[in-house]
Amino acid sequence: MVRAIVGANWGDEGKGKITDMLGEKSDIIVRFQGGSNAGHTIINEYGKFALHLLPSGVFYQHTTCVIGNGVALNIPYLQKEIDDIVSKGVPRPKILVSDRAQILMPYHIDFDAYEEERLGGKAFGSTKSGIAPFYSDKYAKIGFQVSELFDEETLKEKVARVTEQKNIMLEHMYHKPLINPNELLETLHEYREIVKPYVCDVSLYLNNAIKEGKTILLEGQLGTLKDPDFGIYPMVTSSSTLASYGAIGAGIPCYEIKDIITVVKAYSSAVGAGEFVSEIFGEEADELRKRGGDGGEFGATTGRPRRMGWFDCVASRYGVRMQGATEVALTVLDVLGYLDEIPVCVGYEIDGEVTKDFPVTAQLKKAKPVYKVLPGWKEEIRGIKEYDKLPENCRKYIEFIEKELGVPVTMVSNGPKREEIIFR
Ligand code: GDP
Repeated sequence: MVRAIVGANWGDEGKGKITDMLGEKSDIIVRFQGGSNAGHTIINEYGKFALHLLPSGVFYQHTTCVIGNGVALNIPYLQKEIDDIVSKGVPRPKILVSDRAQILMPYHIDFDAYEEERLGGKAFGSTKSGIAPFYSDKYAKIGFQVSELFDEETLKEKVARVTEQKNIMLEHMYHKPLINPNELLETLHEYREIVKPYVCDVSLYLNNAIKEGKTILLEGQLGTLKDPDFGIYPMVTSSSTLASYGAIGAGIPCYEIKDIITVVKAYSSAVGAGEFVSEIFGEEADELRKRGGDGGEFGATTGRPRRMGWFDCVASRYGVRMQGATEVALTVLDVLGYLDEIPVCVGYEIDGEVTKDFPVTAQLKKAKPVYKVLPGWKEEIRGIKEYDKLPENCRKYIEFIEKELGVPVTMVSNGPKREEIIFR
């Protein structure tokens, strides 16, 4: 059985916690897109961890963690993350890396920073993890597949060819130090030694696992609104964040994904620039940011303060639809307990007309939020284990959101810990 866990919003919905929780019942957990540019926060018996590249299943001894072909594989980072969790007492995880995954090269990180520098005030707010240059090269067919590390002849020839092209850009466009092809080849040899124990024909492995009836979890990063096709282009990420892409980024048939758990946050937050219709500012935002998530809404990778906003039915309904959600996990509901009243964005006013359908970016820029104000519950809901024990106004808030989304809310998360979850 294959199940996906993905985000409906701008990311940071709390997917890490839900994956960690459901990971306990999974045999295999797969990352299928993105790289080390976004992070999951996971709190368990070993401590608090910010995972960026490793699948959330690394804390369980019975799970195999897979880095699929769709991922931007930063090899030194992979090693660093493994060493880090092992040094904190976590047993060495079982990890497989697709032989078709591509390698995030040191120069991708440099180019990411150089381009943001060149753009100055018009920058994308990149995390400078090299993700955009990585995927550009992948599709320009000048990326390096893991498998190529083991073919010395081809590798050497390709390093020379790619370096030539990169150095023209470095010299004439960015005026930065050039790449030495011999040093680059050395680095790739080091990468080869690091990654060797993990390399696997992941697609074959997963297809066999499906036949054997194993439970497989596809773990998404970021959310619908950061998808390069369906998100707030161009302020998006560079690989698809949709569950459908899980089939490609893992190498399995799309019809095998039976369950798509879409994580929706009870209010909105976003990192980086881009359209965000229900954004709030000033003290109102500071208060929510301070109380949000687990110890405040600050990026897991960058530490940047997240932008805050009220729940957006228009964006979330779209987010859930594009994921093909079969069920919704509503998270961080406990955070809203301090509010007398909770505004919820139910429509966008664009050129004097109200729409409930999420539009393209050019229209979004003009959109003004139309709010409906719901009564708050003014109560601490952490510790509650049963849905019926939630305050009435809290249940009404959930049910209002559920109706707007049109997908059943099967899980409500009322705290950052793994066991802080209410199943309906
Ligand atoms: P992800 O990228 O979707 O996994 O999201 P992050 O892990 O970056 O952000 C979610 C943050 O909210 C983390 O700090 C979590 O520990 C925290 N969190 C997750 N679920 C809940 C919840 O139900 N309540 C509270 N208060 N915090 C939560």
